[in-house]
Amino acid sequence: MSGNFLALAQPGVQQLSPYVPGKPVDELARELDLDPAKIVKLASNENPLGASPKALAAIREELAELTRYPDGNGFALKSLLAEQCRVDLNQVTLGNGSNDILELVARAYLAPGLNAVFSEHAFAVYPIATQAVGAQAKVVPAKDWGHDLPAMLAAIDANTRVVFIANPNNPTGTWFGAEALDEFLQDVPEHVLVVLDEAYIEYAEGSDLPDGLDFLAAYPNLLVSRTFSKAYGLAALRVGYGLSTPVVADVLNRVRQPFNVNSLALAAACAALKDEEYLAQSRQLNESGMQQLQAGFRELGLSWIESKGNFICVDLAQVAAPIFQGLLREGVIVRPVANYGMPNHLRVTIGLPAENSRFLEALRKVLARG
Ligand SMILES: *Cc1c(COP(=O)(O)O)cnc(C)c1O
Repeated sequence: MSGNFLALAQPGVQQLSPYVPGKPVDELARELDLDPAKIVKLASNENPLGASPKALAAIREELAELTRYPDGNGFALKSLLAEQCRVDLNQVTLGNGSNDILELVARAYLAPGLNAVFSEHAFAVYPIATQAVGAQAKVVPAKDWGHDLPAMLAAIDANTRVVFIANPNNPTGTWFGAEALDEFLQDVPEHVLVVLDEAYIEYAEGSDLPDGLDFLAAYPNLLVSRTFSKAYGLAALRVGYGLSTPVVADVLNRVRQPFNVNSLALAAACAALKDEEYLAQSRQLNESGMQQLQAGFRELGLSWIESKGNFICVDLAQVAAPIFQGLLREGVIVRPVANYGMPNHLRVTIGLPAENSRFLEALRKVLARG
C-alpha cells in the first residue's frame, strides 16, 4: 500500500497553489518558436537596465573564491547596510532574496494555532510562508485595491503573531502615507511583529511614501524588509535583507540556513549599494516609463491603478486572460493577476522606452482584434 502523499501533507500546504512566476523568455520562445531576442518581458518587475557594471565587476573578481563557503555572517554587506540604514550591524538580517526574510519570520514566529494577517491582493509569498508552517492566513478585504489598515488592525486577535504589509504593494502598486503607517504601528498590539515589505522603496524617493527606517526606533515590533531584486537590478542573485531590533534579528539568525546568501550575491550587492548613479538612472527610467505607459493607456481608453512601484496594473474592463494570450503571440510577456483576485487587470513592469512601445503597440493590436 502506498501512502497518499498529497493527503499526508499538512493541511495548510494542501490548500496552497505553487507560486506562479512571470513566464520566462526562453519558455515562450520554445513554445511559439519565436526568436528570444525579439521577446519583450515585462512580467517580473525586473530592472530593465541590466545589472550595474560595478556589480558585474565585483562578481568577476569573486569568481576566484568559488571553492570557499561564503561569509556566513555577510559582514561586508551588513556593514554597508547598517551604515546606509542608520542601524547597528546586529539589526541586519540577510536573506536569499527578501522572500527568505519573510520565510524566516514565518518559521520563527508562526505555527499551527497562530495566524498572520495580510491584505487581499497582497504578495503571493505571504500565504505561502504562513501556510507552509501550518499557521492560518487571515486575509483582510482591500479598500480601493490597497491595504485597509484599520480593518487589518481589527482582524488581529490573540493568536496573531505577524502582520505583513507592503508599501507600495505588489501587484496593485498602492501605498499608504506616513501618518497612516504611524497610526497603525501605534495601535498594533506589542506581541505582533509587523513586517513592512519595502521591495520597491528605492523607486519612491521624493514621494509621499514613508521610509520604514524612520519608524524602527519607536516600534520594536517592526521589521522592514528590502531587496536587491528590483531597483538594484540583481533579481537572479537572490539577495534581500531585514532590519529589526537585535532581538528579532537574533531569532531569525537561529532559523536561517548557515550560508543563505552566496558569495557572488554578497559581492554584487556591496557594489550595487555603492553605485548611486545606477540607482538614480533606474528611478529616472521608471518615472519616464510610467508616464509613457499611462499616456498609452489613456490613448487606448483604459484606466489603471495608480502605482508607486516599477509596474502598473491596467484595467482591461474585460477578462484579461485572452488579452494576455494575445500579447504572448505578439512576443510580449506581461503578468496576469487573476490569481490575486484581479481577473480584469494585467500587471505590466516598466521597461525600456522601446519595450514599453512594443507592449503598447501589441496591446493596441490585440484589443482591436476583439
Ligand atoms: C519582488 C518582491 C519581493 C522581493 O523578492 P526577492 O525575494 O527579494 O526577489 C518582496 N516583496 C514584494 C512585495 C515583491 O514584489
